[in-house]
Amino acid sequence: MDNVADFKEIIDVIKTNGGDAFKSCYQCGLCDAVCPWNRVRKFSMRKLVREASFGMTEIESEEIWRCTTCGKCPQQCPRDVKQIDSGVALRRIATEYGVFPAHVRPIRTVSASLMGEGNPLNSDRKKRRDWADGLAVKDFTEGMEILYFPGCYLSYDPRLKKVARATAAILNKAGVDFGILGTKENCCGESIRKAGAEELYKRLARENIKTFIDNGVKKILVSSPHCYHTFKNEYPDFRVNFEIIHISQYIYELINTGRLEIKKEYKKKVAYHDPCYLGRHNGIYDEPREALKKIPGLELAELPDSRSDSLCCGGGGGRIWMETPKGERFSDIRMDQAVQAGAQVLATSCPYCITNFEDSRLSLENSEAAEIKDITEIIQEVI
Ligand code: SF4
Ligand code: SF4
Repeated sequence: MDNVADFKEIIDVIKTNGGDAFKSCYQCGLCDAVCPWNRVRKFSMRKLVREASFGMTEIESEEIWRCTTCGKCPQQCPRDVKQIDSGVALRRIATEYGVFPAHVRPIRTVSASLMGEGNPLNSDRKKRRDWADGLAVKDFTEGMEILYFPGCYLSYDPRLKKVARATAAILNKAGVDFGILGTKENCCGESIRKAGAEELYKRLARENIKTFIDNGVKKILVSSPHCYHTFKNEYPDFRVNFEIIHISQYIYELINTGRLEIKKEYKKKVAYHDPCYLGRHNGIYDEPREALKKIPGLELAELPDSRSDSLCCGGGGGRIWMETPKGERFSDIRMDQAVQAGAQVLATSCPYCITNFEDSRLSLENSEAAEIKDITEIIQEVI
């Protein structure tokens, strides 16, 4: 099949996106050995790297959309080939040409929804603060202690609204002076960026930054590791620096400073799953575990593939918007691991992980054994 982009263009685009590192690849294959795809089907990042370094990538192929940006192969690569940056560069070319294989096409609807309504879920911007109906949640005003930024999934998704509500309950119980931006909040843009829509990401980021500055925001509390990652590591490209804290860190801090008191027992065996963008990409492994360990009666179980070796749920890099066939879902493997570990609860701290685990739970025969919980939902039950 002919390529829609010529090889020189492919090489140039990869180069301008930090892809020069491609050249240092010596085809050792370590990336393929650690990639979660090779647990469910064949996929070779090594091959993609090789083809791209010669400008031979088939831009219309499904393969360039497979990487979940989980971060596992870059941490193993002996030549510091920045596989994620280069892979995203290939998606940018495909996006520019409007070439999307069938299972990637939902990205078009997602992009249109992000442009029109500021969220990827085709939901009305006006309804963005509805999750807080009936709760003591104020609009953010300058001088408040912290801005709570729940993000798109917690604002709209019926399952994840419960997490936003649990978070608000925790903050109120701890006496935190917080507010939300409600309808003024936009998607953080992290995942659409990894899906190759760089200009759309920039637009969302600029609008958010302007809103933060106009409203006097200094410190931002987030629920999603994807919001955390982009606010902390990518928004500084726009020469801004807000203080960013993830809810797992904040809960740990609130408990340690005596602002949040654990009053009840939670007599269950809980396995904690490290989300890629909280753990591998940002090094936050201990705080969620330490917060859970403060709960009397709770037995914390470790899964295989934990901490920096964590098994991706399959939702990063825009994959949350693409259909992954049954038999190829990493989250099914994770659910099985939780069941094997005897966990009654599989806990995590990321909206994509929860979405994928809940789907797996529905489709797996023995999944009744493990409930899926965000750590805020567990904390809410014991304060
Ligand atoms: S691990 Fe690095 S050097 Fe080895 S094949 Fe993969 S990209 Fe190339
Ligand atoms: S970042 Fe993760 S999903 Fe992507 S190629 Fe590397 S190991 Fe595979």
